[in-house]
Amino acid sequence: MLTKWFGIVKNLDSNIVDKYTKAKRLSICESCPKYRKDFKLLFKTIPNKPQCGKCKCAINDKIIWENEKCPLKRWT
Ligand code: SF4
Repeated sequence: MLTKWFGIVKNLDSNIVDKYTKAKRLSICESCPKYRKDFKLLFKTIPNKPQCGKCKCAINDKIIWENEKCPLKRWT
């Protein structure tokens, strides 16, 4: 939930992408070596909440925003 609000605040001037773009981004993330199945922050782990191991963002809260970028430029 906190990552969702972080995404909203960070992307106040951004639009939401369409469902095809979201699905394409997610598919790319799922095949990326930086993809993590569980979200880790300091000593806390949230199971089954995918995280980017490069930028540490929650993937499902990142890929929906038009302004977001993949830190490895695998998607735009
Ligand atoms: S945002 Fe980029 S670097 Fe991160 S998991 Fe997705 S494809 Fe990989």
